[in-house]
Amino acid sequence: MLEQLDRIQSEATAALEAISDPDALRAWYGVHLAKKSRLMTMLGDLGKLPKEQRAEIGKRANEVKRALEAAYAAKEEALRRAALERSLAAEAYDVTLPGRPVQAGRLHVTTVEMRRIVAIFAEMGFQVFRSREVESDWYNFQLLNFPPDHPAREMQDTFYTTNPEVLLRTHTSPGQIRAMEALRPDPIRVILPGMCYRYEQISARSEIMFLQVEGLAVGHHITMTDLKGTMIDFARRMYGQERQVRFRASYFPFTEPSVEVDMDCILCNGAGCRMCRYSGWLEISGAGMVHPTVLRNGGYDPDEWSGFAFGMGPQRATILKYGIDDIRHFWANDLRFLEQF
Ligand SMILES: [Zn+2]
Repeated sequence: MLEQLDRIQSEATAALEAISDPDALRAWYGVHLAKKSRLMTMLGDLGKLPKEQRAEIGKRANEVKRALEAAYAAKEEALRRAALERSLAAEAYDVTLPGRPVQAGRLHVTTVEMRRIVAIFAEMGFQVFRSREVESDWYNFQLLNFPPDHPAREMQDTFYTTNPEVLLRTHTSPGQIRAMEALRPDPIRVILPGMCYRYEQISARSEIMFLQVEGLAVGHHITMTDLKGTMIDFARRMYGQERQVRFRASYFPFTEPSVEVDMDCILCNGAGCRMCRYSGWLEISGAGMVHPTVLRNGGYDPDEWSGFAFGMGPQRATILKYGIDDIRHFWANDLRFLEQF
């Protein structure tokens, strides 16, 4: 019996020494120290031994059990330590390495231009008035003097909802009526930046969604001179004090008289180049004196009040400034384009 115990100890110890992973260690425990192992079975059967052998065998069996348990615990600890050292070695890092820079995001080029425009008009006393992008036919067209079947509607087809009276606005101009309704009977000086939509063939020159900035001033004794001064001042603050500005007669249903605002080409200074199509001039805005009917529709008596309005496209301004050849770049999310600004 004592020899058997020696053999159990030496075999178990040899097996334990060969172990190098936790799974094998668990299996070893099952074979050598669990309830049904040879050693534990012998300990359980001690009572069956003759009385004179029982004390000696029992003592030795318990010694073997304690020795194996201690060896098992030592092995478990050694394996845990080895695993820790391996993971430390594998994930070692050098604290003296310089840090990796965090990739900073940036504003979209149109947002930058839009903010410049807003800042310039803010300096002139204009406040931002936010207006809805989903509009009714009534606000988008009729209150702005586009009755149903008006030919100017041909230029501004849009996207309709299942309710034909509800549409995506084709311009920021319905915001003029919204601003007048919100601010009457006070004088008004606001700009209305925002997205507009048109049902158009997408090409290098036209997109189905684009940004516009509308401006509206309503007050007593506002004249064409105020409009001209505001436009010239804006062009010079935005593009440089040396800019020349001219006004051409035009037509919009909601202004009378209406003008197109041009400034001399920023690339060729008026000499003529590809960007200005050899005219020397770039169109920067449509504008005019608010039509008396529109003033009335907004709740202002045109006999007492007058005003001017203008509209411009920040994307068009950006295209001109950087010589961008395709308006579709703005929404294409191509980093090669966006990272240039
Ligand atoms: Zn030019």
